[in-house]
Amino acid sequence: MTTPDPRPDMTEVIGRDDVLLLTLDTLRYDVAVEAAAAGRLPNLAAHLPGGQWQRRHAPGSFTYASHHAIFAGFLPTPAAPGPHPRLFAARFAGSETTADGTFVFDEPDLVTALAARGYHTACVGGVGFFNKQGALGSVLPGLFAESHWEKEFSVASPTSFEAQVACAERIVSALPEDRQLFLFVNASALHQPNWFHLPGATREAGDSRATHAAALEYIDRHVGRLFDVMRSRRRCFAIVCSDHGTAYGDDGYTGHRLGHESVWTVPYGHFFLEPPA
Ligand SMILES: [Zn+2]
Repeated sequence: MTTPDPRPDMTEVIGRDDVLLLTLDTLRYDVAVEAAAAGRLPNLAAHLPGGQWQRRHAPGSFTYASHHAIFAGFLPTPAAPGPHPRLFAARFAGSETTADGTFVFDEPDLVTALAARGYHTACVGGVGFFNKQGALGSVLPGLFAESHWEKEFSVASPTSFEAQVACAERIVSALPEDRQLFLFVNASALHQPNWFHLPGATREAGDSRATHAAALEYIDRHVGRLFDVMRSRRRCFAIVCSDHGTAYGDDGYTGHRLGHESVWTVPYGHFFLEPPA
């Protein structure tokens, strides 16, 4: 079902496979690792190489900054001294992380680059920077040929991920079989508020590492449907990562858009989803 491959040749992947980029917005690395080790993420761990998250550094400390960087080819960086060759890179002189196997494009961002190579590009938004409610919330979705956001996808919805997956299923079913797809999903469930994902938790008690973990388990319960629809037509290259973490009182910090270990350190994984035999 899954082919682990630490460093695929993206010049072969692009043009052959569908591509899924799933950002688990705000997911902390430590919470993701603890949940995987405890066997609480059976569906994600089944696909992560070795069942493990990679420890990486986020390219930005909040959604807007991080997604601009990610779409430009700067995925979270392995948290060890580099250089680390990148999967995707916009062409510019002097890039030391463009190597054999890097998909290099002349467009300013990956979304535009894949559209230029015949991919249908679709965005299923989650947090406010994808809500299309105003000019700022339209910038990132505006990169895509097709974009969706509904109130049920938002941070306040206890059923956000199920609704986002249903939207992804509709996108795939409406697409001609021979058309390649780049699907981006920004999962909002981990972002505050997330207390409602932990049975018995209360609004008054608020969000915590425990409710954050419960939100991740909620995503895991439904992510298999997303993987299944993305591999239903052809092989799919999938990237699952966080855009930044968040602090729950760590060293006195709360939230993100600040420089703290809990914000900069993020979980990452990529893998192939093979079509049914
Ligand atoms: Zn974010």
